[in-house]
Amino acid sequence: TKFSELNLNPKVLKAVEEAGYTEPTPIQAGAIPPALAGRDILGIAQTGTGKTASFTLPMLSLLARGRARARMPRSLVLCPTRELAAQVAENFDTYSKHLKLTKALLIGGVSFKEQDKLIDKGVDVLIATPGRLLDHFERGKLLLTGVQIMVVDEADRMLDMGFIPDIERIFSLTPFTRQTFFFSATMAPEIERITNTFLQNPERIEV
Ligand code: AMP
Repeated sequence: TKFSELNLNPKVLKAVEEAGYTEPTPIQAGAIPPALAGRDILGIAQTGTGKTASFTLPMLSLLARGRARARMPRSLVLCPTRELAAQVAENFDTYSKHLKLTKALLIGGVSFKEQDKLIDKGVDVLIATPGRLLDHFERGKLLLTGVQIMVVDEADRMLDMGFIPDIERIFSLTPFTRQTFFFSATMAPEIERITNTFLQNPERIEV
């Protein structure tokens, strides 16, 4: 398979080609077509497999058209750590450079004021750690009822860090009609339970 055969948005494809990639990795080849078709994705993959692009590329393609409203992000990516969230944000910048999409990174150690300003303007992609996201929510600065796509990245690390209750709370604040992309390196029973509760007939890709 080539990226050009995957029906990505042409502007996203252009950015992928400019990044020097022609061949999708197995997780990308497995996840991108069902994701573009609107399916939920359960990806069982480690870091280094290209999993970030496997959710970033279809997300950007699906969000390419449309505009975010104030305080109502159109999509949400949850990461266990600030470092991972920052890496995901860099990937979004790389692959969205030919699109007019807005992004905000909600992580600890950054002032609420700057983050509030971005959220007020409306963001297409919100990338966050669970605690910081819920802090903003509790402050009444953010609504999750407009989330069309939600990603949980590195769920096994979320479990190790005690974030599962936060993740369940965040799931319950987003619309039932959202599309969900869920990634974990391993499938512990607690992770299996979450996916059974919150994913709808997911395409399961194990690499
Ligand atoms: P990840 O597993 O998402 O952390 O990605 C691991 C590394 O693989 C990153 O440095 C990416 O830039 C790179 N990468 C992602 N997709 C591809 C691809 N299709 N071909 C070659 N490298 C890739």
